[in-house]
Amino acid sequence: MARVFSGIQPSGELHLGNYLGAVRNWVRLQDQHECLFCVVDLHAITQPYEPATLGERTLEMATGLLAAGLDPAKCTVFVQSHVPEHSELNWLLTTVAPLGELERQTQYKDKAQRQESVPAGLLNYPILQAADVLLYKAELVPVGEDQLQHLELMREIARRWNHRFGAGYFPEPQALLTPTKRVLGLDGQAKMSKSLGNTIGLFEDADTIWEKLKPAATDPARVTRKDPGNPDICNIFTIHQGFSTPAQQADVAHKCRTAGWGCLDCKRLLADNIIAALAPMRERHARYRADPERVRAILRDGAARVRVIARKTITEVRARMGLLEAAED
Ligand code: SF4
Repeated sequence: MARVFSGIQPSGELHLGNYLGAVRNWVRLQDQHECLFCVVDLHAITQPYEPATLGERTLEMATGLLAAGLDPAKCTVFVQSHVPEHSELNWLLTTVAPLGELERQTQYKDKAQRQESVPAGLLNYPILQAADVLLYKAELVPVGEDQLQHLELMREIARRWNHRFGAGYFPEPQALLTPTKRVLGLDGQAKMSKSLGNTIGLFEDADTIWEKLKPAATDPARVTRKDPGNPDICNIFTIHQGFSTPAQQADVAHKCRTAGWGCLDCKRLLADNIIAALAPMRERHARYRADPERVRAILRDGAARVRVIARKTITEVRARMGLLEAAED
């Protein structure tokens, strides 16, 4: 079985965009590969954040992942900062990472633009990503298209390190492109994101889901019920593709193009499908929420499991890089 690594930032509660864009795929992958899924809190602190709530958000994200269907019997779920070898390998890889490439990363340029004072951690973000994956010699990394540039840099870092310290030591990880179109927020403008307030939370109740969906953006050409629309440019149809059956999707597209129904009818069907699909997750979420110690124990076991691999890699990397072994007590 190939080893898969993927991470998610501790943004708090999961939303539909996280689920369709990544987590649903992770739930499938855990049945096919050896999967390591990580809440990447060290990545989160490269941008302005609130220290008082970071721990809480990390626990909430882990709770959400388990509720969404990650099964600790099939995969390993852990928190990045609980495995200090991520930080150590990050430093060791900075010695081979190409500065020019780091500065050219689109995400770095976007995020740096929005900050008055740019922390070095933001520039080094892709090196920490490389450390996350290479620490476990993971072969496959599920990513969206927006992460492909970072993955290519990760492969370059692996090649450079291998060239200098050990041919073939680190496998060059391959992208496993997530098979879902990018889901926009309810405003139909930007990516679904908690900070933009345009999300539907994965564990929200049926009434809240419907109230949020009702005013959501559609094809602007459908001003009245009689106007035909184009499902290909409608975010509601993109979400239908995540929750409705192929037959329902065909029917939605037909009725949209022929003005056979109103957008509210279309959204009602979508709301019903979302509510039905999320019901078991909402139940699991309530159970995990009521027992945070259980979630903490799962995270502790996960970190213990992956540290066995991480320590071995770090010991080998240190030796290949010529660092003096510490004396035993
Ligand atoms: Fe979008 Fe459905 Fe309205 Fe068509 S009918 S524009 S797919 S919400």
